[in-house]
Amino acid sequence: MLNLILFGAPGCGKGTQSLFLAEHYSLDHVSTGELLREEVRKETEFGEKVEALISKGHLVSDEIILELLFEHLEEIDEFTGVILDGFPRTVGQAEALFREFKERGWVAPILVNIEVDEDILVSRLLERGKVSGRTDDNEETIRNRFKIYNSATQPVIDYYAQHGDLITVNGQAEIKEVTQRIIDAVDAFVKNR
Ligand code: AMP
Repeated sequence: MLNLILFGAPGCGKGTQSLFLAEHYSLDHVSTGELLREEVRKETEFGEKVEALISKGHLVSDEIILELLFEHLEEIDEFTGVILDGFPRTVGQAEALFREFKERGWVAPILVNIEVDEDILVSRLLERGKVSGRTDDNEETIRNRFKIYNSATQPVIDYYAQHGDLITVNGQAEIKEVTQRIIDAVDAFVKNR
């Protein structure tokens, strides 16, 4: 069983790469951002609260994310491997991930950290904002998302380096080239595991 996490700052290409990799390795693609946006589209009271956080670039609480994610993972008919996109975003989430995967007898995911310079990411996100329709792809929210990424999410890398399997890939290249770099790195890692 192969489980992967696609990790990196906002705009690094997690979503796009996840789709290609999910197809390549036949994995279920699970994006916590997408699970949240689905809740927002339901226009419930809960969805409104979520939207208020997302539109400012704040993180949704660990408790809510964990419930939403594991409820979703439990619904997968035959669990043969997933690619997590946008999770974990805090050390607390990473701790819970190891605990919950172990409890279910699932292999702990390999974390693929996609590195891209922040100034490149900001201009990518501003471009994306023109077409994505996402309320969080505007300049003020983007700035906040980076602040939160640097303070709350980046520490996951150190935590993961100590407790799990970590691969770092340079994400400053054409999309296809980055996909190939990730596949090469994951295959080499799995071969030597
Ligand atoms: P994304 O689609 O991954 O860029 O996520 C969009 C937004 O959803 C983030 O900026 C957060 O507000 C929220 N979000 C997504 N995943 C998580 C998570 N694992 N923990 C907390 N908030 C999340």
